[in-house]
Amino acid sequence: MSAFNHWLQQRLTKTKEAGLYRECRTMHGAPRPEMVVEGERQLVFSSNNYLGLAGDSRLVAAAENALQAFGVGSSGSRLTTGHTTWHKKLEETLAAFKQTEAALLFSSGYLANIGVLSSLPTQQDVIFSDQFNHASIIDGCRLSKAKTVVYRHVDMDDLEEKLAQATTYERRFIVTDGVFSMDGTIAPLDQTMQLAERYDAFVIVDDAHGTGVLGEHGRGTCAYFQVKPHVLIGTLSKAVGAEGGYVAGSRALIDFLRNHARSFIFQTSLPPAICAAADAALEIIAHDEEKRHRLAKNAREIRTRLQELGYTVYGDNTPIIPVIIGATDQAVRVAKQLQDVGIYAPAIRPPTVPDGESRIRLTVTADHCDAHIAHLITTFQEIGTELRQPL
Ligand code: PMP
Repeated sequence: MSAFNHWLQQRLTKTKEAGLYRECRTMHGAPRPEMVVEGERQLVFSSNNYLGLAGDSRLVAAAENALQAFGVGSSGSRLTTGHTTWHKKLEETLAAFKQTEAALLFSSGYLANIGVLSSLPTQQDVIFSDQFNHASIIDGCRLSKAKTVVYRHVDMDDLEEKLAQATTYERRFIVTDGVFSMDGTIAPLDQTMQLAERYDAFVIVDDAHGTGVLGEHGRGTCAYFQVKPHVLIGTLSKAVGAEGGYVAGSRALIDFLRNHARSFIFQTSLPPAICAAADAALEIIAHDEEKRHRLAKNAREIRTRLQELGYTVYGDNTPIIPVIIGATDQAVRVAKQLQDVGIYAPAIRPPTVPDGESRIRLTVTADHCDAHIAHLITTFQEIGTELRQPL
């Protein structure tokens, strides 16, 4: 083995010894509640396809039509090569959906967070970031020249204390997820906005998990609280069922990002067919209340039934349902037990979550039916009985 690979193997051995080694599973077919995973039929409780749109025939048709007309790849970055009518149309649709002046597409939500945080706050500024913000926010803060101060998860008293102490900076930014990806918590955006006003701060919200799920017409967590932050970030890869990220806000913000966000400037733009599919999805999301109601009902049902069984379940009524197991090896064992009876739900371990809070992170969709939920609950009931006995 070469010295290079030997060195990597040594590092991987340490990862394995810590119980943190991961691999990807191969899924077959369009995302649906029942899929073939690694050759076995599994009931999937791990998808962000909250409204079941990723495999929806209307999105597929929209993408197919655009594929025929525009081809597969977009062939270049937008500033050097130009963009298609679909990029333009989707940005207009996003701005209308988010009720902002304008919107800008990125190749992913990850890159949207990186682009905003690395370009907007300057060296003279400070960013207040929730402890459990998504990795792409953390990485964006790392790339920023501003100072980052982390406040306790959704703790508005802690945020206020830290804001009050930050008197030497030119500008203050508060950045938060709308719905937290590992805890299923909804950020208290009403209080966040009040604090921002009191302490003269700008608010950035990453609503990757709230869009399509919360608020009137599924407009997201900001609509749920009826607030308008300065910068709205999102992804098209979850409830929207497509791919890509975006920022919505004032025309000045979008002009600024188009000229300064490096992850926009230097990225090949999204394939036009993906833009067409996302555009079709936003039309469905804005008008199909039924899907959203089914999703909320499913989430409430699973959350309540698990709590009745004695499980600690974090978060608010969102489709992200973290079932706290505790020790990492035990969470991995529970994930395996679930898989053995045909349920796919991942164990989430440190460093993604704090030590001692390893969990099974269930995500539910509008397409899960009563029988799917009954199978999940019965299995957790059986596992719960075993967990109470020494394993
Ligand atoms: N923000 C949050 C809160 C997320 O959960 C994710 C995806 N896991 C992202 C951003 C990144 O979005 P994308 O997958 O579009 O890069």
